[in-house]
Amino acid sequence: MDRYRKRRLNPRFVILCAILAALTLAVIAAGISRLLGGGAPPAEDVPVPDYVERDYLSVNEWSRPGEALKKIRGVVIHYVGNPGTTARANRNYFESLSDGKLATYASSHFVIGLEGEVIQCVPLTEIAYASNSRNEDTVSIEVCHPDETGVFNDAAYGRCVELTAWLCREFHLKPEEDVIRHYDVTGKLCPLYYVEDPAAWDAFLEDVAAEVEALEAAEADAAKNS
Ligand SMILES: [Zn+2]
Repeated sequence: MDRYRKRRLNPRFVILCAILAALTLAVIAAGISRLLGGGAPPAEDVPVPDYVERDYLSVNEWSRPGEALKKIRGVVIHYVGNPGTTARANRNYFESLSDGKLATYASSHFVIGLEGEVIQCVPLTEIAYASNSRNEDTVSIEVCHPDETGVFNDAAYGRCVELTAWLCREFHLKPEEDVIRHYDVTGKLCPLYYVEDPAAWDAFLEDVAAEVEALEAAEADAAKNS
């Protein structure tokens, strides 16, 4: 064997080094993204699932200030607190605040109705007035409910799981850490039933986590078949 050959790098060693370097970079990138907490919202409004009807509020001081949502670090779940009302009625209530006569600040990115219908009131690039100190870094979901217990019916519950899971995927959030109740921000009894029954809240988070896994599996399948 000549000396020149001995000094040459084994191509397999070079490939191994390249793979290790790539893996290291990926781990560092994931770490930085975790430190920053969630993904930044896109400069433009992202496409939402088909079941979401977009009907944005007019930009106004009371329910859609038009302020940029710079970072999405969580999803906050609410109940509307007004039994039997529809998603449409709640969306229109937020719009009605725009004249300032009620001097009330309120809105939500999404409202889920009793039949599982979803209306988006505020773009994901802007803040809504729903979650107090967390307005600036969370997406809000208001859920309609049939009676004063605040229990979500099956249609609204299923849709809330689905939409929350979609948001977790889209903005790189963890259901068990980043999905919270309004109660967790201010101590307000909202969403009432899921504050009074912590086991029901834990079950909701588990359902969201399972749905995230199902979405991931479906995406992996689609990628394989494309
Ligand atoms: Zn609330």
